[in-house]
Amino acid sequence: MIDLGLYVHLPFCRRRCTYCAFAISVERSLEAPYLDALIREVRASASSAPQPVETLFYGGGTPSLMGPANLQRLDRQIRAAFQVNPQAEFTLEANPEDVSAQSLEVWSGIGVNRLSLGVQSFIDEELYPLGRGHGRSAALEALDRAVARGGFRVSVDLILGLPGQTVRSFERSLVRAIEGGVGHLSLYMLDLEEGSALWRQVEVGRSILPEDDVIAAMYKRAIEVATEAGLEQYEVSNFARPGEESLHNLRYWERRPYLGLGLGAHSFAGQQRYANTRDLSEYLKLLGEGDTAVVFRETLTPEEEREEKIFLSLRQARGVRYSDLVRLCGPEGMKWVERGTEEGWLFRREDRVAFTPAGFLLSNDHIARLF
Ligand code: SF4
Repeated sequence: MIDLGLYVHLPFCRRRCTYCAFAISVERSLEAPYLDALIREVRASASSAPQPVETLFYGGGTPSLMGPANLQRLDRQIRAAFQVNPQAEFTLEANPEDVSAQSLEVWSGIGVNRLSLGVQSFIDEELYPLGRGHGRSAALEALDRAVARGGFRVSVDLILGLPGQTVRSFERSLVRAIEGGVGHLSLYMLDLEEGSALWRQVEVGRSILPEDDVIAAMYKRAIEVATEAGLEQYEVSNFARPGEESLHNLRYWERRPYLGLGLGAHSFAGQQRYANTRDLSEYLKLLGEGDTAVVFRETLTPEEEREEKIFLSLRQARGVRYSDLVRLCGPEGMKWVERGTEEGWLFRREDRVAFTPAGFLLSNDHIARLF
């Protein structure tokens, strides 16, 4: 039977961060009905022969906000509905303010073995405009506590391009994460959604974002510093010590099947992609009526599948097989590789083609020229 990656969306947050455009809710009174609906969805996804699950990922929202009793209830239901491999990678996204000695025991108790800490920056002045619930000291404590306890692979998320951020201040955060003992780093560029609170502050000049060339310099510096410290870039935004790559995220990029449960969650199997509603009231209503929460389905055409394969392979540092690229893109693919290697944004080694660090920075633009 085909194994799955299982994504579970836990959408509640204490407040909405000023840059956030995810499917979240701050209506904490809806947590109990949400959990009931989610469990209905879990049960409805069960088949008579439970599907094996190789990776489990609780994302949000703020999964670390969920109390022990609810987490344990959800865990029992998932393990009853699916055959979760005892060795499965089980990631939980946690905000620093939720990482205590007790919460680490609870998470470990349900089988969590990987923590993804939403640190974003270790600099108070950079965190402040984001409206996060933590500052530098909480972020440091959370990281040190999680690493010191053991039993978890620890990843830290940092953002490039924050208001007031410089190459030096970004590097300070990066070095602190590395010195803290992380085995994995996710480095995201700030993607400011129009209409978000931070977007409005930027519009009226109350927050000033770094220029593109400064962000590019941060990204290049990140690659140098992480690589020197033994964290290899394995994807455009992700770095890991050997063996600490996110197996769950690798499934997305390798187009292996995954099932998403909960608000706004996406799933993929074969040529089918589908997604649940992002509207919390609709989610609760649909599941309450015994319906599915899926509101979007598509079957990829061969052309879309081809583009997706190339795009997702090229996001990874190992890139794509040259022979596959030529088979899928024909002479255009050959010309693209020739141009990329000449201009220095691609490199070719034996039968593989991949972006150089500079190429990763503009990978979307380069790929757009291929199709
Ligand atoms: S904690 Fe994460 S998901 Fe929640 S509002 Fe902030 S950025 Fe969004």
